[in-house]
Amino acid sequence: MADKVVGSGMFEVKGDEEIWGLNRRWVLFSNALLINMMDRMESILGPVAKRQIYEVGYSSGKMGGQRMREIFKGGIEQFRQHVNLSTTLGWGKIQKVEYDEGSGKIILEYLNTWESGGYHEIHGDTKIKNATCLFSAGIAGGAAEGAFEIPYEATEEACVSKGDSVCRFVLTPMGEKRQVIK
Ligand SMILES: [Zn+2]
Repeated sequence: MADKVVGSGMFEVKGDEEIWGLNRRWVLFSNALLINMMDRMESILGPVAKRQIYEVGYSSGKMGGQRMREIFKGGIEQFRQHVNLSTTLGWGKIQKVEYDEGSGKIILEYLNTWESGGYHEIHGDTKIKNATCLFSAGIAGGAAEGAFEIPYEATEEACVSKGDSVCRFVLTPMGEKRQVIK
């Protein structure tokens, strides 16, 4: 069996066919494959597809955050560890994590999310009107709920796909209220 280290040593390839890390099996996709899938879903379903993609990310982020509570015991430091893990997984380099204790608001900035990279790969320099990084937004919101045990809403206020210099996610405690993603 040929075992190879992937990423920061957390992952290994077992039998040249399965990637394992953190006691789970993982898969690798190209940016383009997932962006093509998202484009296709949106062309069939319209804007509702975006909300669903966001919710997929949210569920995964929340699950990951709940698992991390055993190790990191919640709070902003856990959230930082969680998003740092996303960088290790290739989801993009993080430039900023800001937390306001009074309001619970978190600002998270990525220089190069995989979604903005995938959008550029497929659509070139064409700028889009609305932000593209729905999985990343959902995962960040879910990670915040996992860390703080209250529901969060994540909005992407700046996006590289729109021509901004960063993808900026603003995460706010929101109760049950959910915004519509356009
Ligand atoms: Zn973006």
